[in-house]
Amino acid sequence: MNKYTPIIGLEVHVELKTESKMFCRCSADYFGKEPNTHTCPVCLGLPGALPVPNKTAIEWCVKIALALNCKINEFSKFDRKNYFYPDLAKGYQISQYDLPFGYDGITELKSGKKMRIRRVHMEEDTGKLTHENGASLVDFNRSGLPLVEIVTEPDFHDAEDVKEYLQNLQQIVRYLDVSNADMEKGDMRLEPNISLALTTTLQDGTQEIIPVELLPNYKVEVKNINSFKFVEKAINYEVKRQTELLDKGERPAQETRGWDSVKQRTFSQRSKEDAQEYRYFPEPDIPPITHTKEQISSILKEVPELPAKKIARFEKEYGISFTDAEILSREKLLADYFEKVTSLRDHEVAKQSQQTPQAIAKWIINKKVDYATVTPEVLLKHMAAAKQTVAIDEQEFDRIAEEVFSENPQAVAACKSGKDSVIMFLVGQFMKKIGKKVDAQLVRKKLQEKL
Ligand code: ADP
Ligand code: MG
Ligand code: ZN
Repeated sequence: MNKYTPIIGLEVHVELKTESKMFCRCSADYFGKEPNTHTCPVCLGLPGALPVPNKTAIEWCVKIALALNCKINEFSKFDRKNYFYPDLAKGYQISQYDLPFGYDGITELKSGKKMRIRRVHMEEDTGKLTHENGASLVDFNRSGLPLVEIVTEPDFHDAEDVKEYLQNLQQIVRYLDVSNADMEKGDMRLEPNISLALTTTLQDGTQEIIPVELLPNYKVEVKNINSFKFVEKAINYEVKRQTELLDKGERPAQETRGWDSVKQRTFSQRSKEDAQEYRYFPEPDIPPITHTKEQISSILKEVPELPAKKIARFEKEYGISFTDAEILSREKLLADYFEKVTSLRDHEVAKQSQQTPQAIAKWIINKKVDYATVTPEVLLKHMAAAKQTVAIDEQEFDRIAEEVFSENPQAVAACKSGKDSVIMFLVGQFMKKIGKKVDAQLVRKKLQEKL
C-alpha cells in the first residue's frame, strides 16, 4: 500500500462552437484571424455597453450538463467575477457562482467507478496576451467567447482514470456537436487539482469517495494544460514533488502552478486566491435565466445516445467485440455509418454475400474506411466482390503461370528488366486462363515472386 493517496479534482473549460460570441453579435470564428478584428464595445468592455446572452450557448451548456447526468437549476443567473488582468478589459468576467446551470452530475468509467460532477457552468473567455520584446500585446478576438466549465469532485486517485474521464468528456461534447474540442486550438483546457492524503488516515486506501473532512487541507492547481499526455505527466510530477515535501514534514503550499512542457515539470505561478477575493455578485445587466421542466426535457431529447451506451448496445445488438464497438463509437458519424451499412444487409448485394455485422465492423476498422467518401452501398459491393474470389490451388497456380510465361516471352522479359507495368498484362492472361474469380492482387504478388 502506498503511503499517500493522490486526491485529484478536475476543472475543464470547453469552448463552444456557436456562430457568435456569448454576450455580443461578434463572430466567434476567431481562430487565426487578424488581432482585434472580431470585437465590439461589449467584448471590449467599453463603459455602457450591454451584454445580451447567447441563447444557443446556454442551451448547449445545459445539454452538456444533462449528458453528464446533472440536475438543472430551474432558476439560475450570471455573476461577476472581479479581478484585474489585462486580458479582460471589463475588470471582471461574467460567470456563474452559486446557481450554475448544472450541478450534481455523475459519470462512469470503464471500470465501473463513478466520478461525481460538481457543477457545469457558463462563462466568457478572455482575450489573449502575447509578450514580445519587453512589451505585452493583447488580442480581444477571443474575449467573450462562450466557455463551459465542468468541475468534478475530488474523486480521482490516479492519472489513468483522469485521462479516461477527459477522453470521455471530449467525445461527449463532440457527440453533442457543441464544441470541436480541439486541444491544439485551445478548445479544451484542462486543470487538475492535486493533493496527497495519508493513506492510513483514509483507513481504506481503495475507497473512491473521500469524505470532505478527510481531504488534505491544501491543494495545488495546475492551470491551462492543453494535452491529455501533459495532464498525466503533470499529475505524476506533482505526486512526486508533494511526496518529497510531505516526507520532509512540510505541507505543500496551496498554489496555482503551470506546466512547463519543455522542462517537463510544474512551476509556481501564484498563491491561490479565495472565492471571496473575487467579490462575486449578481450580474446586474442580465436578468436571471429560468428553465421550465418542459424546456429541460426538450433539451434532454436532443442528447444523442452517448459512447458508453452505444458500445454496450453494439456488443449486444450486433454481437461485435467490445474493442470493435469502442473503435466504431469513437466518432458518432463512424458509428452511424456502421449501423447504416448493417441495416442494408437485406440489400441485394449484401444478401448474396451474406455479410455479418462482425464482418462489416472488421472491414470498416481494418481497412480504415472513410465514411465520408465510401457510401454504405459501395462498401457492401466491395465486401461482396472480395468474398466472391475463390482460393487458388498451388499446383493449379504453378501450371497456369508456366503456361502464361511460355506463351508471352516478351512480356516476361520486359517484367524482368524492370517494366513493372507489364505485370498487369500477365495477370490478365492468367485470369483468362483460370476462368474463375480469384484475387487479382494475390495473383500479381505471386507472379512477381515467381519471376
Ligand atoms: P476553488 O474554490 O479553489 O476553485 P474548489 O473547492 O471549488 O476550490 O475546488 C476546485 C477543484 O478542486 C474541484 O475540481 C475539486 O474537486 C478539487 N479539489 C477540492 N479539494 C481538493 C483536494 N483536497 N485535493 C485535490 N483536489 C481538490
Ligand atoms: Mg478553480
Ligand atoms: Zn463583440
